[in-house]
Parts: sequence; structure tokens; C-alpha cells
Amino acid sequence: MKKLCFATNNQHKLAEVSQMLAGKYELLSLQDIGCNEELPEEQETLEGNSQQKAEYVWDNYNVSCFADDTGLEVEALHGAPGVYSARYAGPQRSDADNMNKLLLSLQGEQNRRARFRTSITLILDGQQHQFEGIVTGSIAESWQGDKGFGYDPVFVPDGHDRTFAQMSAEEKNVISHRGRAMQELVRFLKGLEV
Ligand code: IMP
Repeated sequence: MKKLCFATNNQHKLAEVSQMLAGKYELLSLQDIGCNEELPEEQETLEGNSQQKAEYVWDNYNVSCFADDTGLEVEALHGAPGVYSARYAGPQRSDADNMNKLLLSLQGEQNRRARFRTSITLILDGQQHQFEGIVTGSIAESWQGDKGFGYDPVFVPDGHDRTFAQMSAEEKNVISHRGRAMQELVRFLKGLEV
């Protein structure tokens, strides 16, 4: 079975994709390939960051791999926090601080449209491919729900009246930005083998 590294330290993400690729690829973690350092993500776009992380693994470990990067893009804030989503309220990377800052920034704002966008860069035997997943929705007036992570308690996907944090992981995965980008990646990888 062909080996493929998912350049993430998030065990939850690994397990999810591992299941989607079961039997086709042996999914390796960063730890599995002996990479214990933090991957660089210094670019100003999601595409640039997913590419930088994937290239780092390919260049240093010579293993086919893919990396993802996600941002929340809020219309009234001209696409912010975007690529800076994790550290929107500061280097402490606190979900609570980030959501408080976001709700404050949108106080009195009529337009609460937003979207999550995920970029994935795959490097397969040296060849690069990019995939994207988007979910559109709106920012709630206050926090609701306690599942998930990040901005989940304030994001209501279109067609639903609950936040991501009020949904089960399975329900969220089907419609989420990352779920959709991963589905694109998996479709591509499975297509290659036919
Ligand atoms: P990452 O690129 O997956 O690490 O995501 C960057 C940041 O975007 C995270 O720290 C979260 O603040 C936010 N984020 C990414 N994915 C999600 C999600 O599925 N729900 C809520 N917030 C997310």
C-alpha cells in the first residue's frame, strides 16, 4: 500500500481522513515520519500556507504528503480573520478570545455573512495538486453549543438553524469546509488508481 503523510499534529483530523482512505493508502502522521518540529506557515494566504507545510515535509522527509490550512472569512470584515483565524485575538490562540473579538467587531452589523475555507496542498511523488472546500453561513449573535472547536459555537451553516457546535462531528463533517476539501482530495486519490 502506498504511504502518504498528512502533515498535521491533530489526531482527530488524522483519524477522520484515515477512515476515508482506508485500504487505499497507508496514512502516516508527522510523528510516524520522524518529524517533531513545528511546520512553517508564514504565508499570507491559505493556499500559500498549505503549500509551505506540504513542501517542508516533501523537501525534508521525501515522503508524499498533504497539508491543510483553514480560515474564517467574514464579509463585513473584508475577509478577516482569514489566514489569521487562529491568532485573531492574539498569540495566545484562544478560541474564546477569538470569538469574543469577532462578536464585538460585528456588534450592530446587519451583514453577518461568513464562510470557512480550507485549502489542501497534496504533493504526490513531487507533483503538486491543490484542493479547496467552502461552507457558507452566518455569524450568530452569541455562542451556542459546546461541541467542535475554534469558531464552531458562532457559525451557523446555510440551510441550518444550529451552529456547528450544536452538531455531531459526523453531521458537521458532511457539510464542513474541511470535510468538503478532504472529499475532493480523496476523490482525486481514488480516481488515480482506477
Ligand atoms: P487550521 O488551519 O485547521 O489550524 O485552522 C486555523 C484556525 O481556523 C483554527 O485555529 C480555528 O480557529 C479556525 N478553524 C479551522 N477549522 C475550524 C472549524 O472546523 N470550526 C471552527 N473553527 C475552525
